Amino acid sequence: MTSQRQTQKGALSPASPKTSPKTSSKAASKRRDSIADELRRQRQRVELFAEVTLKIRQSLQLKEILRATVTEVQRILQADRVLIYQVLPDGTGKPISEAVLPAYPEILGMEFPEEVFPKEYQQLYAQGRVRAIADVRDPAAGLAECLVEFIEQFDIRAKLIVPILQNLNSPQINASIPENQLWGLLIAHQCSQPRRWDDFELELMQQLADQISIALAQAQLLGHLEELVEMRTAELREANHSLQQEINDRMQAEFALRQSEEQLRLITNALPVLIAYVDDQQRYRFNNQAYADWLGQPPSQICGCHLQTVWGEDCYHRMSPYVEEALSGRAVVYETEIKIKTGAIRSVNVTYIPHLDEQQTVKGFFALTSDISERKAIERMKDEFISVVSHELRTPLTSLHSALKILTTGRLGTLSTDGQQMLEIADENTDRLVRLVNNVLDLQRIESGEVRMEKQSCNAADLMIQAIESMQPMAQQHEVILSNHPVDILIWADSDYIVQALTNLLSNAIKFSAPGDTVWLSVEYTDSAQSAKSSGARSVIPAARRKGRKSAKSQPIPAEVLFQVRDQGQGIPADKLESIFERFQQVDSSDSRRKGGTGLGLTICRKIIEQHEGRIWAESKLGEGSTFFFTVPALQQR
Ligand code: ADP
Repeated sequence: MTSQRQTQKGALSPASPKTSPKTSSKAASKRRDSIADELRRQRQRVELFAEVTLKIRQSLQLKEILRATVTEVQRILQADRVLIYQVLPDGTGKPISEAVLPAYPEILGMEFPEEVFPKEYQQLYAQGRVRAIADVRDPAAGLAECLVEFIEQFDIRAKLIVPILQNLNSPQINASIPENQLWGLLIAHQCSQPRRWDDFELELMQQLADQISIALAQAQLLGHLEELVEMRTAELREANHSLQQEINDRMQAEFALRQSEEQLRLITNALPVLIAYVDDQQRYRFNNQAYADWLGQPPSQICGCHLQTVWGEDCYHRMSPYVEEALSGRAVVYETEIKIKTGAIRSVNVTYIPHLDEQQTVKGFFALTSDISERKAIERMKDEFISVVSHELRTPLTSLHSALKILTTGRLGTLSTDGQQMLEIADENTDRLVRLVNNVLDLQRIESGEVRMEKQSCNAADLMIQAIESMQPMAQQHEVILSNHPVDILIWADSDYIVQALTNLLSNAIKFSAPGDTVWLSVEYTDSAQSAKSSGARSVIPAARRKGRKSAKSQPIPAEVLFQVRDQGQGIPADKLESIFERFQQVDSSDSRRKGGTGLGLTICRKIIEQHEGRIWAESKLGEGSTFFFTVPALQQR
């Protein structure tokens, strides 16, 4: 390109004439003028180029840049037509931007076949070739005749062609060797006549072609950036969408949760019972409106508070063992009394249901407390009524009983066989009635606090022997063997009542055993802390420790003694093991008739044992037998 330009420059420069000394000063001043002119021209060109470049680069849009380029080149060069010809990858090409005088045909958008601009020419231009043809018809231009004919249809007489190169290296890859490819051509046409293109024109065309190359690179970069921005925008849009979705889901979940919470609150608030959830730290996590009505503390004030804070020291002390039991994973039901905000005392029934997670760890418990004061009042009235009636019955019943007993001896005369049978039935039922009346009165007296247990030091072995002796006739009658294992253990108890409890249990064991069965009675020390936990989970003191008791006086004596009455009878269903201690509760309602029971024996036993601060419970296996346990305090000092 440079050599061609140089060649052309040489062709355009006029030869210097020989000068005489006379004319030398004139010539020198002329030369100075011409140098000054040349410098001025050069400055103008630089300014012009800067101005055009600025105009071209005012836009980032390639189309705009191309349009500005052809317009400016056409204006400055005063060419008839200036166009940008894009070379397509298949070798064909088309003008994509054009500035042409109205007198000449437009060739914008026309597609030219590869023959017009063959591959070898493309390669030459790719290496930077520049062509300046002053007259296409001039054979020195070296154009084939057919080509001249072809281009003349567009009125082309002279043309100036500079390549527009494109750097193919990706902007991200910092390639040291730029790889150029021919993107297109910047072409100026003179249509009206031949034209000799000067250096300035060549240079301008070339520099503007370079500007287009830069613009192409920028457009490529811009395109790439736009692509990146689009990708990133799409990613962000996607992320935004998921986020929005998540927010919506969360809002929906929250809404559903709020709704179900409201429903739960609505239901629990409408119930006249205390409903709460207490965590494993014994702190309220949920409680209903009834807490406000009963205790005068709004639910929000109670939530998060410890049981002791809400109920106070005394009440908490009473509920504490049950709370611990619930937190050890067992459901608890108990009755107690609480003081409400008015100062009144209410009887309540409390149920604790443990809350276990998937790993069976206790997380807390659900608490339900219902007011049973009215029921209790009615029960009290009923008890009082029964006790009054029983009391009134006792005197006539005693004489009736005695009279029947005398009659059955036959001392007042003999009866017919049928009469004797009737008499025995009457005697048997009177016996039952007497027992019932006695039991009712016993229970009423114990419950009302009318009787006080006269506790004193007594030997467990003596009480056991006494009970066994009194039950021996009954055992013989039922053909049941009584096996006694008395141990000399001192207990702190009312001996009569403990014997009564033992005989009640022995009587039941005999009643529910089959002939030939054995009933065992035994006693031993027990660990009070363990046995207090549950009716079933008691812990018996190891035999070694018990044996050592007599010799090692310094050893602490366990606080409790455990009695056991074991039989081989029919057994008791698991769901009845607790209820049989309630009054008039029997496993089978026909038991009272068949076995002559009253349904009060175990209730009386429980009352007696409770008066001794002990506990009573039963364990059983259906068909294999039952064991009744009760504890009483051991005598601490010997
Ligand atoms: P009862 O006078 O009816 O025996 P209790 O209160 O002593 O009343 O006993 C209540 C019920 O408990 C009995 O009716 C019986 O169903 C059941 N029961 C008590 N002890 C035993 C036992 N050893 N074996 C089987 N069932 C028993």
